[in-house]
Amino acid sequence: MAIPHDADVIIAGAGMAGATLALALHSGGLKPVLIDPMPFDAQLAPTFDGRSSAIAFSCFRQWRTLGLAEALEPHAQRMDEILVTDGRTPGAATPGQSPFFLHFDSGEIADRVEGEPLGYMLENRHIRAGLAQAVIAAGIEVLAPARVAGVEVASAAAKVTLDDGRVLSAPLVIGAEGRGSIVRRAAGIDTVGWDYPQTGVVCTVKLERPHGGVAHEYFLPGGPFAILPLTENRASLVWTEKRDRGEALKSARPEVFHAHLMRRFGDFLGEVEVMGPVFTYPLSLSLAEKLSAPRTALLGDAAHGVHPIAGQGLNLGLKGAAALAEVLVEASRIGEDIGSEAVLDRYGRWRRFDTMSLAAGMDAFVWLFSNDNPLIRAARGVGMAAVNRIAPARRFFMHEAGGAVGDLPRLLRGEAL
Ligand SMILES: Cc1cc2nc3c(=O)[nH]c(=O)nc-3n(C[C@H](O)[C@H](O)[C@H](O)COP(=O)(O)OP(=O)(O)OC[C@H]3O[C@@H](n4cnc5c(N)ncnc54)[C@H](O)[C@@H]3O)c2cc1C
Repeated sequence: MAIPHDADVIIAGAGMAGATLALALHSGGLKPVLIDPMPFDAQLAPTFDGRSSAIAFSCFRQWRTLGLAEALEPHAQRMDEILVTDGRTPGAATPGQSPFFLHFDSGEIADRVEGEPLGYMLENRHIRAGLAQAVIAAGIEVLAPARVAGVEVASAAAKVTLDDGRVLSAPLVIGAEGRGSIVRRAAGIDTVGWDYPQTGVVCTVKLERPHGGVAHEYFLPGGPFAILPLTENRASLVWTEKRDRGEALKSARPEVFHAHLMRRFGDFLGEVEVMGPVFTYPLSLSLAEKLSAPRTALLGDAAHGVHPIAGQGLNLGLKGAAALAEVLVEASRIGEDIGSEAVLDRYGRWRRFDTMSLAAGMDAFVWLFSNDNPLIRAARGVGMAAVNRIAPARRFFMHEAGGAVGDLPRLLRGEAL
């Protein structure tokens, strides 16, 4: 006799990765339940998440396919060019200032991506609002506030205990509850990683001159400084600093913060006005040794937390959601047990290489681009100038950043499950 389950898939964590997976599974006919200690209303508060995210064009296709276009498009700024400059002097990342720069232009790959930009910039609060609306409209069950406290795996079910004592059962539990994942620990999956001696200082600014859809990344001795274009001629700044400096900047008086900001930003976009609070985020690397265990799979930062140097963390989680949803929906359609090792191995094999190579690449970039050693600076400058001269290399990086390399899951191609 089959055991009655509460859902097909229990998802611990209704963050951006968990909520996207829930929508994808629902679109393929499965019944997910989302669990989170933070109800959606709390996630939308202006003080909850001051970040904006660079979303690869393939990941944005997934959201479109899941019905989020109307909610997200008004807030999505096209990123048509990325300018990466190495230089010691403060100021804008403009090619005239340094011979060592890399320039990516979406026009160069327009024939292969039907005019899509390199990516879109969106404030996380708008992404969270769009996802919350879509989850509610789809009638997906959300248990919040509630926290996953433990998981026990039996031969036919994962039993999930919540902190209020409730017990839920399903063939599969997904750990999408961020770096401190309880589901990962319960499955006995170890992580490798380390803290970076850096803090990400984040704020939103209004610009006097048009940003023209160009993202700038500029390398200062404390770490990378990114100016990322947002709608209404605003920009999100991600400014990597040594830890103690980062915290001092957060608590500095507004005029002191502004003075420090302008020393790094320069005046190429005119007057820069800081809007809203300054946020800081500790930076670390955390990689799960595997993506699945019996009746368990990991997604998003629970599986891989990376440095924001190239804006890839959430994109990795969204690519994982697309692959995992496709594997599970296909397995259920042919009557397979979706929590079985054979099915979950397909997810692990599909995502393992991309995840590990990207995480290793990001870690190497952090070392290379947060380094003030003159020899290393010279080597990276020459490397950047060389890549910039080779059109196929530039196009490779643009496809990689757009998440359009390798065997793409259907949702990342813009096709429904
Ligand atoms: C400064 C900065 C800038 C960044 N910029 C970019 C970018 O431009 N592009 C990009 O792709 N990525 C970027 N990232 C990375 C990105 O923000 C993260 O990868 C992403 O937010 C992870 O989402 P997630 O849903 O996996 O995890 P989280 O956002 O950590 O969500 C986890 C959820 O689980 C819930 N939870 C916690 N414990 C439990 C429990 N016990 N039971 C149930 N639920 C629980 C939490 O309340 C939360 O809602 C950036 C990161 C930083 C720090």
